[in-house]
Formats: sequence, C-alpha cells, structure tokens
Amino acid sequence: MWIVPEREIASLMTREAAFVAVEKVFAAMATKDAYNFPVVREAIGHVDALYGFKGGFDRSGLTLGLKAGGYWPLNLQTKGIINHQSTVLLFDPDTGRAIALVGGNLLTALRTAAASSVSIAHLARKDAKVMGMIGAGHQAAYQLRAALEHREFEKVIGWNYHPDMLPNIEKVADEAGIPFEAVDLPGMREADVIISITSAFNASLMADHVSPGTHLACMGTDTKGKQEVQPELLAKATVFADEVAQSVSIGEAQHAVADGLIAENNISEIGSVINGTHPGRTSENEITLFDGTGVGLQDLAVAAAVVDLAVKQGVAIEVDF
Ligand code: NAD
Repeated sequence: MWIVPEREIASLMTREAAFVAVEKVFAAMATKDAYNFPVVREAIGHVDALYGFKGGFDRSGLTLGLKAGGYWPLNLQTKGIINHQSTVLLFDPDTGRAIALVGGNLLTALRTAAASSVSIAHLARKDAKVMGMIGAGHQAAYQLRAALEHREFEKVIGWNYHPDMLPNIEKVADEAGIPFEAVDLPGMREADVIISITSAFNASLMADHVSPGTHLACMGTDTKGKQEVQPELLAKATVFADEVAQSVSIGEAQHAVADGLIAENNISEIGSVINGTHPGRTSENEITLFDGTGVGLQDLAVAAAVVDLAVKQGVAIEVDF
C-alpha cells in the first residue's frame, strides 16, 4: 500500500492534472460508468466536529474509494491546524485491498477549482474578458487562480461580504498580471464569468446583477440551507451540475426547485457537455450556470492521479499492509 502524505501534495499535483482528472470523471458520470455513493455527514457530538465520507466507483478509470473527513471548527484556535481535514483511501476494485492513503486537504481545493474550470472551459463564451468573484476566502483564491487559465481575461472584479478579505483574491489577480477592482453586487453586470464561493445561507447575487451571455459557477452551496444566488437566476439560465441528485438536494438548485421555478429535469450533467451529447451553450446571450456541489468521485480522481505521480517520482511511501 502507498502513502502520499499531505506535505507532498503541493509539489506533485498541478492544476492541469486536476483539470484532466475531474473532466474525465465528470464525463464518466454522464455515461454512467462512474457513480457516487450516498454521502454520510454526521455531527459527532465532540468538539463541534462534522465528520463524514463521500465515496464512489469509476468503472472506466478503475478507481474505488472514499474521502473521509470534515470540519473541526476549533482546530485553528486550539491546535494551529486548518479546520477542514480530509484523507482519501483508495481500494483495488478487483480485490478490495487498500492500495493508497492520500492527504486530502489541498486536493479538495484543487479538485473544487478544477470543477469550476471545467465548466468555464466548456460553457463560457470564448470572448470572455471580465472575471467576477463572489467570495474571498480559502477556496476563492484557488478558484480564481485556476479560472484565469481558461479564457483571456483582461480584468478581475470582486465582491465579498467581508470586504477586508478582498486582498486574498486581489493578490491572485496581481500574480497573474491582471488588474483587480472591488465592485458592489450590481457591478457584477460587467462580468462575463462569475464564480461564487462563499459559505452564505442567503442569496447575495440577484438575477438582475447578471448580464446576458454570462457563465456562472456556483461553488459554495454544498449543504442543505446554504444559498448564494437568487433562485430566479436559475430560472433564467441553462443549468448544469456535477451531479443532478446533489444539485437539487444540497446544491444551489435546491431553492429554485423548492420554489417551483425549475424542475430536476431542467438540469443537465456537465459530463454530457464534455461527451458531446448536450450542446452546452447555444447562443452568445444565453446565461449558463454550473451548480458545483462537490462529489466524491472528484476526490478519488485527483487522489488516483497524485498516487501515480508520487510513485513515478519516488516520493510515495510503501508500507506492507
Ligand atoms: P472560508 O471560511 O475561507 O470563506 C468563506 C467565504 O464566505 C468568505 O468569502 C466570506 O466572506 C463568505 N461569507 C461568509 N458569510 C457570508 C454571508 N453571510 N454572505 C455572503 N458571504 C459570506 O471558506 P472556504 O473554505 O473558502 O469555503 C467556502 C465555501 O465553499 C463553503 O461553503 C464550503 O463548504 C464550500 N466548498 C464547496 C466545495 C464544492 O465542492 N462545491 C468544496 C469545498 C468547499
């Protein structure tokens, strides 16, 4: 069995490799070659922790496993380590033997950024110039860094509920050599692509804050009750998701469906666009919206890729297990 510790991930995994792995597994989900197992998420009644696991099987890539972990809200202040903690365990689908244990913290950020990037690559207008960010927390920096690689953006605009956090994303724009401007929410009308990545429980972005032709990737809503955009926006948009079942239950679409504004069958899997069975964007004026809820198969895909890299580069630790 191989072990790839968290400390090795940064020097092994690239945004490009994460993009390829996530795009491939989204495509396999759409052809039903890969499926996610029901998610377990529990408040364990100890140090306010939320613990759970997400698993799945990709028959095309022969990847079987789970990501276990969750959110320990007191970690940073009491132990000096990050609050989100996760570990991926991969199994040999032919025998059931455990084959790898992989640090999952950085991989989570990379696979989440890869998901919005896949949606931008397939759904945003080719001439998109202005990148809009709603959110400026830990994930937002990864999201922006990856998104900027998929169109020739000339400007980044950003809004955050806590304006003092905006330098987190301004720094990313600076590093990419692209000017940054803080805007109010109506200012998002200038954006050609918008990523929302917040932990909000109420909509910030309203339908009239979004111009025709925009592509949105709504990435923050991954739990029942969370919400980033007005449900009317989903009614105006062509809606895609990583997985439709998660989109209507824990994703942004939960609200639009509950309000009767859209139905489950109005949502298409992004994998069908990747596979060419859905045309994706069909006009320059269409609003496209990707509801990225985060599926276990994304974690397994990037973990399997990182194990291959670690073994090739001689940094994976082999244990007799
Ligand atoms: P973080 O704590 O670093 O940042 C939180 C962000 O939310 C900040 O920008 C903050 O200003 C904003 N925010 C907080 N309260 C708000 C409010 N009431 N209204 C509007 N904005 C508000 O968190 P993070 O690690 O960047 O994660 C952000 C979100 O992304 C979380 O909800 C997390 O669960 C989600 N997430 C989703 C996936 C996925 O696959 N879809 C993966 C990882 C994280």
